[in-house]
Amino acid sequence: MTKYTSYQEAHKLSLKNPKEFWEQEAEKLHWYKKWDKVLDDSKSPFFRWFVGGKTNLCYNALDRHALGEKRGTAALIWESPETNQTKVYTFYSLYKEVNKFAGVLKNLGIKKGDRIIIYMPMIPEAIISMLACVRIGAIHGVVFAGFSRESLAGRIDDAKPKLLITADCGSRGGKLVKLKEIVDAAINSSEEDVKSVIIYNRKFDSELRITKGRDLDWEELMKKKSMKYVQPEEMDSSDPTYILYTSGTTGKPRGVVRDTGGYMVALHASMNQIYDCHPTNGDIYFSTSDIGWVVGHSYIVYAPLLAGIPTILYEGTPIYPDPGIWWRVMEKWGVTHVFSAPTAFRILKKFPESWITDRDLSSIKYFFMAGEPLDEPTYHWAKEVLKTKVIDHYWQTESGWPMLTNMPGIELMEIKPGSPTKPAMGWDLLIVNENGNEMPRGEKGTLVCRPPLPPGTLMTVYNDDIRYKTSYWEIFPKKQLYYTGDYAIQDGDGYFWILGRADEVIKIAGHRLGTREIEEAISSHKAVAETSCIGVEDKLKGTVVIAFVVLREGFTVSDTLKQEVVDVVREQIGPIAAPKAVEVVKILPKTRSGKIMRRVLKGVYEEKQLGDLSTIEDGASIDEVSNAINEMKKELGK
Ligand code: AMP
Repeated sequence: MTKYTSYQEAHKLSLKNPKEFWEQEAEKLHWYKKWDKVLDDSKSPFFRWFVGGKTNLCYNALDRHALGEKRGTAALIWESPETNQTKVYTFYSLYKEVNKFAGVLKNLGIKKGDRIIIYMPMIPEAIISMLACVRIGAIHGVVFAGFSRESLAGRIDDAKPKLLITADCGSRGGKLVKLKEIVDAAINSSEEDVKSVIIYNRKFDSELRITKGRDLDWEELMKKKSMKYVQPEEMDSSDPTYILYTSGTTGKPRGVVRDTGGYMVALHASMNQIYDCHPTNGDIYFSTSDIGWVVGHSYIVYAPLLAGIPTILYEGTPIYPDPGIWWRVMEKWGVTHVFSAPTAFRILKKFPESWITDRDLSSIKYFFMAGEPLDEPTYHWAKEVLKTKVIDHYWQTESGWPMLTNMPGIELMEIKPGSPTKPAMGWDLLIVNENGNEMPRGEKGTLVCRPPLPPGTLMTVYNDDIRYKTSYWEIFPKKQLYYTGDYAIQDGDGYFWILGRADEVIKIAGHRLGTREIEEAISSHKAVAETSCIGVEDKLKGTVVIAFVVLREGFTVSDTLKQEVVDVVREQIGPIAAPKAVEVVKILPKTRSGKIMRRVLKGVYEEKQLGDLSTIEDGASIDEVSNAINEMKKELGK
């Protein structure tokens, strides 16, 4: 096994000779047939890794351990403060359950390449479903269970699933969410005819309605239609594992498609190189994310299991039933690696530190953060109370694993608070100006990556190769550069600093939302003629949405109407997208060609110089917006 002496050496090799670099990582996993070619870049920007190789992700994540030394070791630890339950699966018992459920899927006629939507709370059956899909080669599409029926319906329309798996209810902060009801409504409003719905019935909803001929009960299927063993499907390395929807700059979310072999190799390597997480050290991984997000896919489910590490699946919030709950879970299991988001810390900061410091957290070796900028005060606070290494790293749904990070598994570089450090292996990141030319160190520009993208990154946008090319590869004409959508700076030491989104995407509490999606939801309200949304700074959530609305003739402004606008977003997208404030204006600042000038809205809110206004249609719109913003600030107590 290669042992690198420094980050620089390893990173250089990963760029200079990616084939050699990744091949030795791939050798560590099980392949039914080895690859003919490590990388096929002949159809750039569509990169294919380990071409000709045959493997199975479930086999590598489970069978390899369950039928070997780790048979009796914990694989999945479920902690649910919501329901006061704990459950531990060993690699063997998880393997058995996954086989049984894979048998159910087979008996229902699910085949390789069929899509299955998983709309589940954070319960073991969600992970069993994901692993069973990849075992038989079905493509899963996990939809965050906090998304509304409209969002779910949109994903059903796009993925055209043969089957949907859900539960009667989820629970958040002690409140039940009737998921099955949302599924029924989503299927009703979608254009697709979903033939079967499997329900894991937690018996929390006494009024659960069953649609005969379509709805199937998990327990009953596991009794009557399961199999003891299901042969894993021999998948081509480039066969898709899953589709995961994420927001872009248009109203329609993009279905990021992930391959099999490249993803498996990249995740497995990352556990060692980035997270310094090893089964031989007795390490235990706790990612506080949700299986509906990319972090959940990669670092609750696949990466820890591939590495043979126990993973904690947590159903709940950081503060329910009290702000000590996370820390009790970590103390109880002697967690060694934690992965969380800065927002959670900003929430926890409001409570006495003793909720954390009273616990024995000496087992924690690293605390990783991602999803949004880790501001310096939060970094220092976290480091102080946790007394461990706090590591900020940067990545995207598209990348599948970190792009910028410290690399304690190879070399722990100096931590500069506020910077996610340097490019991960295989990432040839640079900062460019609007023409795609590289910027000198210290100057702001857009963060891009030179091809090829390393293994594990998105293959395309589901059913839309053109959108893949136009959204990610054609932002700088004549230059082949992967566009991240973020502004950044690289300092003299080679560290990168993320400055925020360059496109019309907002990150709220670590979750990505397109302004267009929110605007489309608001526009569906009968009183709204026109609207524009922006993300503004918020102490707790990092960023929140504020919305400006122009009303149709005949409608007048009222608190009820503003609340309705908030509710329409809540219903159509989900509570995370709900605007923090809504203000009515007579006109919005627009260019003469009719494009709404979001930068003017943002500039007025942030009380900054507005820059070049020569293209504005009507200067009076700025006064309108200023007045509206003053009102908003009063409401928000600023
Ligand atoms: P998502 O695909 O939803 O995970 O969103 C990815 C986006 O989140 C990135 O393009 C960044 O805008 C932001 N992001 C993720 N990690 C970080 C980080 N460590 N620092 C700053 N922004 C981040």
